[in-house]
Formats: sequence, structure tokens, C-alpha cells
Amino acid sequence: MSIKIGSVDLLIDGQWTKTGNSFPVYNPADTSVLAEVADATAKDGIAAVDAADEAFKTFSQTSARYRAEILRKAFEIMTAEIDYCAELISLENGKALKDAKAEAVYATEFFRWFSEEASRVPGDFRYAPNKDKTIITDHRPIGVAALITPWNFPAAMATRKIGPAFAAGCTMILKPASETPLTAIWVADVMKRAGAPDGVVNVITTSKSSEVMSAMMSDKRVKTVSFTGSTYVGKILLRQAAESVMKASMELGGNAPFVVLEGADVDQAVAGAMVAKMRNGGAACTAANRFYIHESISKEFSQKFTTALGALKVGPGVNADTELGAMVSIKERDKILELVEKARAEGGDVVSTSIVPTTGAYLSPYIVSGVKHGSILTKEEIFGPVAPIVEFNKESEAIAMANDTEYGLISYVYGKDAAVGIRVARQMETGMVAINRGIASDPAAPFGGMKESGLGREGGFAGIHEFLEPQYFAVDL
Ligand code: NAP
Repeated sequence: MSIKIGSVDLLIDGQWTKTGNSFPVYNPADTSVLAEVADATAKDGIAAVDAADEAFKTFSQTSARYRAEILRKAFEIMTAEIDYCAELISLENGKALKDAKAEAVYATEFFRWFSEEASRVPGDFRYAPNKDKTIITDHRPIGVAALITPWNFPAAMATRKIGPAFAAGCTMILKPASETPLTAIWVADVMKRAGAPDGVVNVITTSKSSEVMSAMMSDKRVKTVSFTGSTYVGKILLRQAAESVMKASMELGGNAPFVVLEGADVDQAVAGAMVAKMRNGGAACTAANRFYIHESISKEFSQKFTTALGALKVGPGVNADTELGAMVSIKERDKILELVEKARAEGGDVVSTSIVPTTGAYLSPYIVSGVKHGSILTKEEIFGPVAPIVEFNKESEAIAMANDTEYGLISYVYGKDAAVGIRVARQMETGMVAINRGIASDPAAPFGGMKESGLGREGGFAGIHEFLEPQYFAVDL
């Protein structure tokens, strides 16, 4: 392997800091240990808050241009080292190198986008309606931010939070997932090399996330929490945030419907389904979770989808020709297999499309047809390469089934043209709708969910506002 794992210590106040303990990070392709990473305690978490709080005093006063140029430099460093980043993602997460490269580029773009956004924060200056005063609205950085990221996009979830927090003038503590901390540590090192002042970007890795984050969440110097992960953990953090009325941005779980209407182009829909389902091996909050296919085309769709899935090359993520790598862990793989078994027990027609390596956390793609809406695969977030297919007859029935979930992150709609797609999209209870395409994410667009899929938006023009506080001046001019 060409990659060398660099520092695996905590980053506190600009210093790589050792702790007494460590925990292992595994390569899910063969279950070997990749690195031992510093295991922070609650005390280390508070030391990071001390550093971020102190750094905020000066960093919050810096110019937008200064912050923009550091982010731009970080974008340039990441771009120059994109292959290293991709390999590191693939090694600790298991995903295929082509998915890891796509993630690395996507991640890098958040630094570019927020370097541009730093100096474009709008204000407001106008008379009050009765002209008794002038209303001036400004924005100020909210303060110390706690950033918590999941294992499925270890680079992109970090840059999607660090970028806007830094652009806004906030200081931060990043706590990456314990399964994939190496990429996040590397991203923080990129920020350090780009010139981020000491104490602005701190990183805490820990095997005791609940304990360490609880201590930080009850520290009143932390002014906002930006979390990406499961709805279950999001609710715990929201309860903790309520104690100090802390601002919270939540990017939570999904259960995306993929609806193919009568008259849609089947080949185009299958190509989109391959992206929507298989990007990242199905381990994406945006992954198509359940397929609602009009009865006139469902047989053709299922056959073509099964053939396309069966053609995927499954193997170690770092091999150049791999199209589906390992799941993040054996535990995660087994969770998905358990769902497949429950679907079989419910009467689903389960087809495994591929033979996979027996060592490592590999999983064949599965197509499950004859699925009834309301059965397990339409209710649970699968987070793997399993595609349940439900037939429908009427458009209204498909829309009702699509919306019949507590989640509301994204939906996919394939219709005979964009006008049909948009008409149906307007009825979807999701923060994002991909119309006649299998992917929606873009750093320049607002990413986020309705219902229990989250609060707030990341990326786009909205992303920086998650880290800004509006302040109104009433002026007697
Ligand atoms: P998770 O179990 O919720 O963990 C997410 C992060 O929270 C990890 O860093 C985890 O640390 C930490 N954590 C766990 N328990 C905690 C606690 N009590 N207090 C504070 N932090 C805690 O989610 P995951 O399994 O890593 O990721 C999969 C989930 O993320 C899926 O539901 C997926 O849909 C969602 N996701 C959403 C988006 C989005 O933008 N909406 C994007 C990607 C993923 P440890 O690793 O140490 O447990």
C-alpha cells in the first residue's frame, strides 16, 4: 500500500496531543488493524473547548477575506493530494476507490464553495415601515461549534461542517465517527497546513462518544452543535442542546423513495437507480431505500436492474477495478443481512446478484421483489446494497406510499419528462427531490431534510447561516 498513516493524536490548540489510551481502526476489506488512534476522555474534550473558546476571541474578529484565503488554500492542498485522500477513505471505510475519489472531490468542493461564501454574507439596511427608525441587520459568528460526523462520508461530512464554520468566523471541535477517524484527522491537518490559527480547528477522537460529547454539550461555551448521523443520536443531542438552548443543525437518517412513473424511460431509470442505490455501496443517507415502480414497467425495470447489479465487480475498495467495496464493518454487514432475512420471512422474493469474497465485510447486492408497502424494507433505513421493489398502479398511490414515513430527506422521481417530475416532486415531503436523475448533492445547493430527517441546511447559501447569529440594530437616523 502506498499510503502512510500520519498522525493519529488529538488536535488541540494546534498541537498534536497524546492521550494515555488508544483504540484500533480496522480495514473492513480484510479486518486488519490500520492504526491505533488517541482515545479522548471528557477531560480532553473540555481541553478542546478551552482552546476553541480562547481562539474565538481573535478569530471571530478576522476579516472574511483572511478566512476565505485559508479555505481556498485548503481546497488547493486537498486537490493536490486528492489521491491520498481517496485511498485513506477507501482503506478505513471499505468503499470502492471510485466512490472514494468522488467523495474526495465533493469534500474538497465544500472548501472552495465556502471560501467564496465567506465574503458574501448579506446584511440588511432599510427604514422601518412607519419610518421611525432604520433597521440594520448584521451577522456575527455564533461561537464555539461542536461538529459530529458519521462514518459513511468521512471527508465530505467533515468539510461540509468545517468549511462554513470557518468561513463564518467560528472555532470548532470536530468529533469524527470512531470507525473512520483517520480521514477527518487528515482533513484537520490540511486546515493546519493551510494556515488555520491554533485552536480554531480541534479534533477529538474517542471510543466513548456519548460520555465525551455529553461533557461538551453541557459546557455553556459551546454555542452550536452540527450533527450528521442517525435520527436516534440526533434526538439525544437535541435533548442535550435544549438544556442550554444551544443552536442545533441536524442532518439525520433517510428512507428515500425512488418512484418510476408510467411513461418513464426504463433504461434511464435503471441507470439512475444504480447511482441512487449503489453510490457508496448503498451506505448513504440519500440512498434510494425503496423502489415504487409502475406496474406497466416493473418487470422490465427489475430485470434490467438485476442485470446491472450483477455486473458490478465486488472486492477490496482500493483495487482500481472494484465497483462495490466492503461495508464499513462486519457488524454493519450483519445488520443488513438480518434485514434481508426478515424480508425473506415476510415473503419477499430475494435474489442475491453476486458471489463475494468471504474474508472482510463484503455483501452481495440484493433485489427483493414482490415487496408490500409497510414491510420491513420499506420502513427501515437499509444503508446497504439491497433494493426492495414495490409495484403500484395509480400515481396518487405511489405518492402516498412515498410520503408514508417519518423521514423526509430526499426522494427520486422518474417521469416521462421534467414537467411531470416537478409536478410530482412538489407533492413529496422531502427536503430534496432528484428529478430524472440519480443524484442531487452539490455543495452549492441546500442539503437537508424535512420531518425526522433533520433541522437546517448544509451547503448552498444557507450553510454558512447555521454558524451565524443575526443581530439587529435599531438606529435613530
Ligand atoms: P450514528 O451512530 O448516529 O453516529 C454518528 C456520529 O455520532 C458518530 O460520530 C458517533 O460516534 C456519534 N455518536 C454516537 N452516539 C453519540 C452520542 N450519544 N452522543 C454524541 N455523539 C454520538 O450514525 P452512523 O451509524 O455513524 O451513520 C449512519 C447514519 O447517519 C444514518 O442514519 C445516515 O442516514 C446518517 N447520515 C445522514 C446524513 C445526512 O446528511 N442527513 C449524511 C450521512 C449519514 P461513534 O462512531 O463513536 O459511535
